[in-house]
Parts: sequence; structure tokens; C-alpha cells
Amino acid sequence: MQCSKCKEPAVISEPARCKKHFLADFEQKVKDTIERFQLLQKGQKIAVAASGGKDSLTIMVLLKKWYENVTAITIDEGIEGYRAKTMEDLQRVCKEQNIPLITKSYKDFTGYTLDEMLKKQKFHPCTICGTFRRHLISIASKEFDVLVTGHNADDEAQTILMNLLKGNTDIFPRNGPKTGVGAKGFTQRVKPLYFCTEKEVATFAFLNGFVSEFIECPNAPEGFRYLIRTVLNNHGTKETKQHILEQFLKMKETFPTKSVELPPCKNCGEPSARETCKTCEFLMVVQS
Ligand SMILES: [Zn+2]
Ligand SMILES: [Zn+2]
Repeated sequence: MQCSKCKEPAVISEPARCKKHFLADFEQKVKDTIERFQLLQKGQKIAVAASGGKDSLTIMVLLKKWYENVTAITIDEGIEGYRAKTMEDLQRVCKEQNIPLITKSYKDFTGYTLDEMLKKQKFHPCTICGTFRRHLISIASKEFDVLVTGHNADDEAQTILMNLLKGNTDIFPRNGPKTGVGAKGFTQRVKPLYFCTEKEVATFAFLNGFVSEFIECPNAPEGFRYLIRTVLNNHGTKETKQHILEQFLKMKETFPTKSVELPPCKNCGEPSARETCKTCEFLMVVQS
């Protein structure tokens, strides 16, 4: 397969691109996304939620190239055989790129690692993990103007389908490339990799030497997301994902744009839809 721009050997298909043209196209796509949705401004204090996986390493390094004030925030869940490796990649890249790294752990917050919690109680790992991660990142990002996450086109298309199939359309206004705009108690969240497929991000990270190997979270195959992901990857194309995202964005324009004002949780003070937030609820169970 040849690059359709220069006839050099291609490193990726859909469209066929050589290394040079793929890297240039990828960066341009991220820049266009930032521009289209006005995701970031010069002079902002930018935090990147970084797991050390391909997505967060890619966006972290690109933003460091284009913006002055970039810090990485990472959460150590305590997942045996998974976290150590990604943490190693993250620390190495942060050091090479001169990016400050803030680390928060489940162990410090709850007294237990995720593995220990799952042994103690029968939780769905992704539910409890997502809740604690969001909480810790939300706390750590308060001193920043904007929080960048590495969600890619695959993640986002999956989320839209999952919410649609579960009937959770009321949370659609909170999905999209830019969320938490003007909402009290939340740092604005943006997703510059919104239109980059997982394959493109993986290729970019690999060609740049950010990740030594691709490791999946050992808990991932248990989730509903895994089913949706399999369906999309086996029966969909890059265009299918693109189509879902663009249709969603069109639909989103018809939603009322009221900013969500959530009252504070009576325990921790973080904005919450319920009297006691999910984090505090889980925390009570874990520590009982
Ligand atoms: Zn080329
Ligand atoms: Zn709470």
C-alpha cells in the first residue's frame, strides 16, 4: 500500500498515508478540532488527565508542543500488572518533555487499592473505578482553567451508543468535545482527540515511541462498553464512528443549553445530583 499523497510506503489505511503525511495529518486534525470547538486558549493553565496509555500521552505531548502551561494529573487505581507499566511510560514521557506530574491514589484516598476493594466487596470494577477516578481528578484539577482528557472517536461513539441504548439521553448535554462550560464547581473539560480514531491514536503514539506496548485494563472485558466496542469494530468503519459523532453534535444543538447547577454533596461538598454523592456512597461501603 502506498501513501496517496507521495507514493511512499503507507503506515496506515483509510486514507493511505506514509509516516510523514500521517503524522502531519494527525496533528492538523487535532488543531482543527481545538479550533472548531474553541477548546483551548493561549495563556490557560492546562491540566491533562493522564493514565499513561496511548491517548493521554499523545494529547499531553501535542499540547506541550503548542501551549506554555501544561501539567499532567494521574490516578493510581492499584490494578496489579496494569498500572505499573503505564505509570512507567507516563513518568518517562513527563520527564523527557519536562511536564510536571501530579499523582493521586485510591490507596491514599480510601485506604485500599482497587484490587483490594474488589476482593472485599462484589463491585462492578468499572463503576467504582470510574466514580473514584472522576472524583480525584475533579479535586486535583480545581486549580487549573481547563482539564483535557484523551477520549478518542471510538470512546465517544461508544459512549453515545451506550447512553442511547440505556435510555440515558438526559445526560447527552453533558457529552461532547467540551463540557462543564460555566458550571459551578466543575473545571471545564475538553477532548481534542474527539475525531481521532483509536487506531490513529495508537499509530501516532507508536510512531513517536510514547508507549512500549499496548496494555488493556484487565477489568475492561466485563463492561457493557466492551460489547458496544466489539460491535462497532467488527461491523462498523471509521466512517460509521465519524457519522455517529457528527449526528450526535447536530442533535446536541437542539438541546437546551442550561448550565447544570448541582447542589453540594452533604459529605464532601462536591457538586452532586443526589444528597450524598456516589463517591461518598462507595466510600462508606468500602470502609465499612
Ligand atoms: Zn506520504
Ligand atoms: Zn461526596
